[in-house]
Amino acid sequence: MKKVVAKFGGSSVRDANALRDCVRVVKDTADLGVVVISATYNTTNELEELFSLLKKGEDESALWGALKERHRIMARDLCCEEAFENLITTLEAELIQIRENAELSYEHRDHLLSFGERISSQLFAWVLSKEQNLPYQVELLDATTVIKTDSTYGMAFPQEELILERVQLLKGRAQDNTLFVTQGFLGADSLGKRTTLGREGSDYTATLLAGAFDAKEVHIWTDVDGVYTADPHIIERARRLDTLSYREATLLAKAGAKVLFPKTLAPLKEKKIPLRVGKTKAPQEGGTWVGGDHACSKDLIGLTLKERSDGLIITLIGHGVESLDIEQSEIDRGECYRSFYHPAKDIQDVLNLWYERYFS
Ligand code: ADP
Ligand code: ASP
Ligand code: MG
Repeated sequence: MKKVVAKFGGSSVRDANALRDCVRVVKDTADLGVVVISATYNTTNELEELFSLLKKGEDESALWGALKERHRIMARDLCCEEAFENLITTLEAELIQIRENAELSYEHRDHLLSFGERISSQLFAWVLSKEQNLPYQVELLDATTVIKTDSTYGMAFPQEELILERVQLLKGRAQDNTLFVTQGFLGADSLGKRTTLGREGSDYTATLLAGAFDAKEVHIWTDVDGVYTADPHIIERARRLDTLSYREATLLAKAGAKVLFPKTLAPLKEKKIPLRVGKTKAPQEGGTWVGGDHACSKDLIGLTLKERSDGLIITLIGHGVESLDIEQSEIDRGECYRSFYHPAKDIQDVLNLWYERYFS
């Protein structure tokens, strides 16, 4: 039977209450096979900061202490404190080993960044295992045993054939009601060293696994109820796009719609696996469904922004964009999109102005 792969992002697992919302979604999802978990909100940023302190030889203990305490509070609230302390002991031993290196490289950075997803997935698995009347048998899966990558630390390329092999082995030994809980973003190279798929890459873990499992669907659970015509936290009037093709969603993601990691859709196209984006706290509000491979079937579908050191890159996406008369320096164009450079840094004003002009 084909299964669903669900992924919960950082804000969806930010504290014990948020985690309980995720459990509710898990319980309401039929045929769930895999749950992919991101690090809790802002943890990967803090681990990056911790790495730069280590690299400069500065004291990282306050930052590590705060990160640990935040998760300890979660563990206490979720009644899994003892097991949490065991995990922290392991991670602290690894932290000491990392600190002992004379030269710290991207390889060590990936090792350190792995702490975030290792903690959150562990908490998630413990909480799920304690749930009564769950139709699943929960198994915490170490992503490094499945997500095999090359050795480009910081932005590793997955080796899909190896991932498929590993998934076949897993499928062979799993019960029909096994629910794997695993870490997003993390992988390992041929030497067994830890790698990461690129910042925000947990979405990609979900679709890589979905491709290899030949999943029925992928559900991306986040803090917005779908993909919008612009970032809904900046443009209040942005509207939700109920359906998108893989190509449209990829264009939006590559141009800056942060809700999906740019490589997310690639593993789904061949097997035509649909992907849904929904809001963890309000699953009933529906969401965006991504599937089909048409280029651009609608009018304008997106206005996205990317920050650059000297200003902003604004991209307009959708059918008819090529014939728009725009007085701004164009820096790139392709099928269904055009990108422009804007010297201003005020994202709110710039986006509002452009949205008003092209989406009203
Ligand atoms: P997660 O931690 O769940 O992976 P992200 O922060 O990576 O969540 O992505 C969700 C965020 O993406 C939203 O809070 C929203 O501000 C931002 N976003 C940017 N562009 C868009 C868009 N076009 N549609 C929806 N959300 C967008
Ligand atoms: N935790 C990682 C990051 O913040 C991966 C993710 O959340 O998607 O970049
Ligand atoms: Mg994300």
